[in-house]
Amino acid sequence: VVKKAVRRPLSLSEKILYSHLDDPSVAGDIVRGKSHLKLRPDRVAMQDATAQMAVLQFMSSGLPTTAVPTTIHCDHLIQAYKGAKADLEAAWKENAEVYDFLATAASKYGMGFWKPGSGIIHQIILENYAFPGGLMIGTDSHTPNAGGLGMCAIGVGGADAVDAMVNLPWELKAPKVIGVELTGKLNEWCSAKDVILKVADLLTVSGGTGAIVEYFGEGLQSISCTGMGTICNMGAEIGATTSLFQYTPTMRQYLKATRREDLAIEADKFASELLVRDADFKPDMYDQLVKIDLSTLKPALNGPFTPDLRNECGDAMKAALQKNTTWPRQVSASLIGSCTNSSYEDLSRVASLAEQAHKAGLKAKIPFYVTPGSEQVRATIERDGIQQALERIGAVVLHNACGPCIGQWKRTDIPPGQPNTIVTSFNRNFSKRNDGNPKTHAFVTSPEIATVIAFSGDLAFDPQKDSIPTPKGPFKFQPPKGDFLPSKGFDAGKDTYQPPAKHGSSVDVKIDPKSNRLQKLEPFKSWNGKDIENAIVLVKCRGKTTTDHISMAGPWLKYRGHLENISNNCLIGATNDGNGKENSVLNVLTNKEGEIPATARQYRDQNIPWIVIGDVNYGEGSSREHAALEPRFLGGAAVIVKSFARIHETNLKKQGVLALTFADPSDYAKVQTADRVSLIGLKSFAPGKPLTLVVHKGSENIKIPLNHSYNSEQIQWFVQGSALNVMKSKR
Ligand code: SF4
Repeated sequence: VVKKAVRRPLSLSEKILYSHLDDPSVAGDIVRGKSHLKLRPDRVAMQDATAQMAVLQFMSSGLPTTAVPTTIHCDHLIQAYKGAKADLEAAWKENAEVYDFLATAASKYGMGFWKPGSGIIHQIILENYAFPGGLMIGTDSHTPNAGGLGMCAIGVGGADAVDAMVNLPWELKAPKVIGVELTGKLNEWCSAKDVILKVADLLTVSGGTGAIVEYFGEGLQSISCTGMGTICNMGAEIGATTSLFQYTPTMRQYLKATRREDLAIEADKFASELLVRDADFKPDMYDQLVKIDLSTLKPALNGPFTPDLRNECGDAMKAALQKNTTWPRQVSASLIGSCTNSSYEDLSRVASLAEQAHKAGLKAKIPFYVTPGSEQVRATIERDGIQQALERIGAVVLHNACGPCIGQWKRTDIPPGQPNTIVTSFNRNFSKRNDGNPKTHAFVTSPEIATVIAFSGDLAFDPQKDSIPTPKGPFKFQPPKGDFLPSKGFDAGKDTYQPPAKHGSSVDVKIDPKSNRLQKLEPFKSWNGKDIENAIVLVKCRGKTTTDHISMAGPWLKYRGHLENISNNCLIGATNDGNGKENSVLNVLTNKEGEIPATARQYRDQNIPWIVIGDVNYGEGSSREHAALEPRFLGGAAVIVKSFARIHETNLKKQGVLALTFADPSDYAKVQTADRVSLIGLKSFAPGKPLTLVVHKGSENIKIPLNHSYNSEQIQWFVQGSALNVMKSKR
């Protein structure tokens, strides 16, 4: 249907995306970078931090099971401190109520639940669920990891996940497609990580925004499936919607090795037609084309503080250190693993280096931490002696979880604020990411380079040229060697998966009513059928108002499953145009300045509707469902702005908050914080029909025309109180 409608050669990304359209017959009208697609993903994955609110929202839809296969992964809440066993026990104690809630909700509503200790979400997806040609969404930015198995896998906010879970089409702006042609062959000191470090250098941290990065070319032959996963994973660092590889023989091998031969057989059948770009799709048909000759690539370390600042190993790094005299050259810790680089291949190559060093009588010179990506990888490297080889040289093997990659690193060797350098094989290195210390200079690199630096302690160490002194004389590393797949097959390890209950209706979801981290969501009330009269402008926001200004992150994240508590951060980062201050507005009821959340609560409790006025591109930033849920929960009736960031506009509509724009943006000047206003025309609310804002200034009533982008389905979201209420009413 798509091919008939489009009538032009298609890239692989387009084939996969458009074949998941809610209505494939519209494919012919799609303009990359402009159109909005309504898609039907094949599955949803959520990590334990972001799953909490998404599951609560799903529960309030009243549906008995999720509409698409969905899994929850407990990986983000485990702290790295004393080593695998002790850290896991501590996490169970610390997060018991969250794990209990997620486990029981998963069981009841048909979701797979991967317990703490099972591994990192993206590794589990690659091992169990990813498949060539599929479309999945995940509530985590590194969901694109599954592109290593040819899946179009996109990181989204919780509200998007809820769409797919309740059987609503999920919206995405049609991505542009960037082609990356790989020629040549990786040399022996380079690995897949060096490819993405180079891509980040070429495209920068924003170069992939709004685009899918599609890799092709003969160079694919020297990269394994898990290596491709590494490249796709870190594609998130250039802002790409996702990254993708065509079906290759190593994908077939990986599917077989992970007990999915049936999928490999199916993929083989469709390989030449559906799992590659069209033969007549020429490279100049991509929106942008990048070429990399793998044979000329050198190992590199990107950083500090940004993943696109590339420094080649050795001389180039020495020159960078001379130029940037505040970068400490002595490295304080080396960390490998995470979802980016924890495959069997990564760890076996690293172990080959550790064994060489061990034979030379060396131990790691600095703390050296290893995070296996999953229980399966952990059990297999233990069986095959890889873990022992690493521990012999002093490495600490941490739990299969995010740990230091997400800042869950209880670091005690360096006091906060002390400048120091670390090297990691992770994907992100912005300030404070790993240990909370703004003076930690983190460089991302391949696991192989992070390992040799663990022995030298020198950021400018080049294993191709430099040696390490030992009592027996200078020791020089030979290039790493490793296996893509374990010759004895994978050892699945402990069973850490909880399937959904056969009869979910009898399962009780555990939420302690006294909890301050979790709270059941009550469905929002439907519209009362009247215009909104005599509302108050809670705040008129001046300038940039991002989703972070509307719902701040940081310490607030621990309340992400408790709408009442997290609503205490509602709009606290927004600047009030009335007084130029943040989180300070005139409370019309007390005639005193008050904090925004408390003022909103007071209006709500006295049944006074309130609205927000916003500036240009209101709600830009990450798709955070709390930024729409909180105003709704606190009694917000409408948000009226010069213009919206589209995702936030849709999120507001979904929660039943009116999302409206000034027909004439200069009318923004006619209304101020604490004004009394009415919203007229709701009884005949219809697509394309303007509404009116009346500003009551003394005896004067200023009428301001308002536009909206509601279609008839979205108007029902408003009428029934939320998109979830609509889904519930359709049952
Ligand atoms: Fe995110 Fe790091 Fe965890 Fe991967 S290991 S999912 S990048 S926090």
